[in-house]
Amino acid sequence: MKIPFGIILATTLTCIGSLSQAAPCLDVTLTGTQGGPPVYKGQAGAGTLVRYGDSEKGCSDVLLQFDTGRGTTQQLSKIGVPVGKLNAVFFTHIHSDHSEGLVDVAQLRWHFNSGGPKLDMVCSADSTSPAGHSMSCTKYAAAIGDAMIASGEMAQRLVENPKRLAGGPADLLNVMTFKPENSAAVVWSSDDVTVSAIRSTHVPGHSSYRVDTPAGSVVIGGDAGNDSRKPPRASSTSAQVEDLSKGADILVHSVIHPVMGPDGTSGFPPPIYFRQSTATDLGALSNRAGVGHLMLTHLIPPLGAPRQGPYPIEGGGLTEADYVDSVKAGGFTGDVTVGSDLANYRIVAK
Ligand SMILES: [Zn+2]
Repeated sequence: MKIPFGIILATTLTCIGSLSQAAPCLDVTLTGTQGGPPVYKGQAGAGTLVRYGDSEKGCSDVLLQFDTGRGTTQQLSKIGVPVGKLNAVFFTHIHSDHSEGLVDVAQLRWHFNSGGPKLDMVCSADSTSPAGHSMSCTKYAAAIGDAMIASGEMAQRLVENPKRLAGGPADLLNVMTFKPENSAAVVWSSDDVTVSAIRSTHVPGHSSYRVDTPAGSVVIGGDAGNDSRKPPRASSTSAQVEDLSKGADILVHSVIHPVMGPDGTSGFPPPIYFRQSTATDLGALSNRAGVGHLMLTHLIPPLGAPRQGPYPIEGGGLTEADYVDSVKAGGFTGDVTVGSDLANYRIVAK
């Protein structure tokens, strides 16, 4: 297998770095690949787990979860990752298909790990939409246990175990907000791991992230699209994400296939189509940015699905080859993962 440039670079860094970590390891797992609110064949909602550590010790010194779509806790359990071990969760945006699993993550952690460290929750500061409403990660976090408080469940569980935090799951979240800008800025770090964020367009407050480690780097694009919300424009992809992706070993990005476009027969709403990045344009971005490995996630439509929600897919369903061909049409010659739940890519510096 071709060795990506990032691995060679990481090897060099290892030689001058800490001898206690002989084999730094970066592990990227798609915890959920469903695109948007529909459900299809049990696919989990959008999320990516990034693990960093020593390959000899399970590559699990630092555990970062990016977005927590539907079913995140179940997905983590399949790969043996307890929510009590997560160091931080990051949100690209507060759409339910990326955030609804936080209720379960926070409640489960509160239930069994109330005495442990709080969970860092990193997201953009409140932003106001052109329509006047506010998009607020902070308020979402503060209300995360409200239904269970209203039902009396939290009071009952506190009677059973008064050592749990009195305010419910929200008390366990350490919310860390930032104002996303056009240039990347560090928003979280721990020893060898640095996470940067950049502003990107989808809904107000949308942000994309990059994780840099001695083993390599990964960019989490989220649902980013171009600042110009419809054609004519040079690309459907985000210029900021392209900047963030320069030289990255891995790019994880939501994707929409051109079959959903207004030229087709699906009837998919054009404004929703235009605010996502197409497979072809992501291939072109990856080529220009020198990305080593492209991981497509949040597939619209899912592989084989006859429809995306109520919108029928011309021809009855797409194959993996349909997505790969579309990426390669954009000029990308690197490796491509067409995401399925728990698809994984690991870089070990040797
Ligand atoms: Zn989404």
